[in-house]
Formats: sequence, structure tokens, C-alpha cells
Amino acid sequence: MPLKLNVPYSDKDVAKLKGAFWDLEQKTWFIPDHKDINDFQQWIDKSKVSVIIKSPVSIALNSSDCYKCANKTAVISIASNNFYHLGADENEDEKWFRADGLSFFSMPVFIENELADKINRLFPNYKIAYSKTAESSYWANHCDHCGALQGDFFLHSEPGGAFFPLEIEEYEQLTFITFPSKFDVGIDANYSWLSNADDIPNYAKSITLEEFLDQRE
Ligand SMILES: [Zn+2]
Repeated sequence: MPLKLNVPYSDKDVAKLKGAFWDLEQKTWFIPDHKDINDFQQWIDKSKVSVIIKSPVSIALNSSDCYKCANKTAVISIASNNFYHLGADENEDEKWFRADGLSFFSMPVFIENELADKINRLFPNYKIAYSKTAESSYWANHCDHCGALQGDFFLHSEPGGAFFPLEIEEYEQLTFITFPSKFDVGIDANYSWLSNADDIPNYAKSITLEEFLDQRE
């Protein structure tokens, strides 16, 4: 899907010359899929965004035992197998690199508004909070029963955690919900490299947002 650009009015002619387009409906500049996003770096706000997820984004849904009340609670993570992350090239210049293995994104400190609003409506217990373990604030899961913060370190970095599955039975617990959006989505978060990333989607459930909403009724 196209990527939105943050083009100031004074840059509009340069952006157009480079191949950016204007979206009338959303009043934003954008580039289509086949353009190299590194040619448009100056119009991507890297102070906010460290990962660009190609639309559609997935929300991975799982359950986890709350460390505080021991009840099972729903936990989510933004996930994708098609995204760009910031890195440095051989000249130490900042550059966007494409990744195409499944990744779960942990400790997001920024999620673009449109996606943040959608997540917030469906999963109100996923919200910005201060984690004492991480000594920082990020979008974190909270227990459906007692409200305790379910830290991403436990969910993403502990082997067998909700978003660090190691066994087929653990893959099968995961549901990926596809979130359609007109544009790609920027977030600031850590991404994962899992050696079993290719296997997980073969066993996990994958459903559309509509199917998920139907199931909940
Ligand atoms: Zn709890």
C-alpha cells in the first residue's frame, strides 16, 4: 500500500518531481509501493517512526497468565511480515531496510493515530503506561481482570512467552487479525528476529477484522 509523506508546503514541487502524489481525500502526499522509500527519507519523520509496516498490519492475539492475579488475560502485539526498519548502510548513513520475515513489535512508544485509534477501540487494555521494569512508557497490555501491566519483556523475550512461541502447540494459540488501511503504518518499536518466523503462520489462525468482530458478538 502507499506510504504517506510529511511534505512541507515549500517542498511540494521537489516531492512531486521525485514522484510523490497528492491524495485529495486525506490531503496528504504519498508514494506508491514501487518507489524506493530511501529516495523520500527527508519526508519521513524519523524522530517519531523507526518502523514502517506495509499495509495491511496484523494484530497478533494470544492469552497469557497474569503474573499478579493468575487469571488468563488477552494480550496483543502488532505484527507484520513485510516492513521497513531504520538501520545504517556501509557508509554509516541512516537508511530504511526491508524485512520480510514475521516480526512481533515490542515496546511501541509511538503508533500512528489511525491504527492507535482502531486498537484502542477493540483492545482498550492495550495502552500507554509506565513500566518499572523497562523504566519507560510504552504501549503495553493490561490484565482484563485486575488491570496489572503485562510487560513486553515477559511476553516477547521469555522463551514460550505469548509472542515468543517455540512449540507447534504455542503457534496454534496465536490468531492474526488483519487490519486493512489505505496507507502503510509508522510506529516506533523494537522488532523481533525469530528463527521459526516462517513456521508460525502455518499453524496460527489468520482472520480478517470483520471475522474477528463477528466472533466477538
Ligand atoms: Zn490480573
